Amino acid sequence: MLVLRRYMHNGLRNFNYLIGCEETGQAIALDPLDGEQMLALADEHQLQIKLIINTHEHHDHIDGNPVVQAATGAPVWAHKNAMGKIPDQAHGLVAGDVVEVGTIRLKVLFTPGHTAVHLCLLAEVSETNPVPVLFSGDTLFNACAGNCRNGGNVDDMYESFVSQLQPLPDETLLYPGHDYMINNLNFARTREPENSMVDYWLDQVQANEADDMPVMTLGQEREYNPFLRLHSSAVRQHLKQEFPQLGEGDRDVFRALRSLRDQW
Ligand SMILES: [Zn+2]
Repeated sequence: MLVLRRYMHNGLRNFNYLIGCEETGQAIALDPLDGEQMLALADEHQLQIKLIINTHEHHDHIDGNPVVQAATGAPVWAHKNAMGKIPDQAHGLVAGDVVEVGTIRLKVLFTPGHTAVHLCLLAEVSETNPVPVLFSGDTLFNACAGNCRNGGNVDDMYESFVSQLQPLPDETLLYPGHDYMINNLNFARTREPENSMVDYWLDQVQANEADDMPVMTLGQEREYNPFLRLHSSAVRQHLKQEFPQLGEGDRDVFRALRSLRDQW
């Protein structure tokens, strides 16, 4: 499986993905924003786009659909509850579905929270894929969780993290929908100033352009992403300064972190 990531150089800092099968030359365009760029990228790598998938209905994840579709005839798939929200959606996916294009196998994880219809895609280990790969859309970012302000719900997001993301192995490669890594690491530093991994990764990436951001693993994320560190006593201690009544539950910690990130 070939993963081509392209930074969109836009204000929202989107990443677009082309996921290619090296045996058949078939490909999936994930969350196309700039359709022309996706088509050019496919040409450059001699890939034929057979399918468009949107992780969710926000415009910056679907605006490239018509251009890609007009040029390739590829249908648009997204979660079944996105039907009617995404123009020309041809098929509704549900949790556990496996999308197959060439030798690519992507398992659908239903991950509401950023919006009510959000899905992530997981490539599990197979003969053609040596490590698990997660396309996380706007659910999990490097060093943060997605916001819940535009059609989302923080309790759903927490449940998605616990039930869908927490079980994934450390070696899983993470491909998020946006590049917010530096900003998010700076937020993480306010939450856990004594965490040397936050400083280490800030040092590593702060001179990088978005095109050059490293692809992190979930194991690495678990070392600095506060939303994956709900049990950290340091995270909890610092939160008590803003939330003296903070409850002991992981959900309370998650909600408190998300509300601070909303204002940050
Ligand atoms: Zn979004």
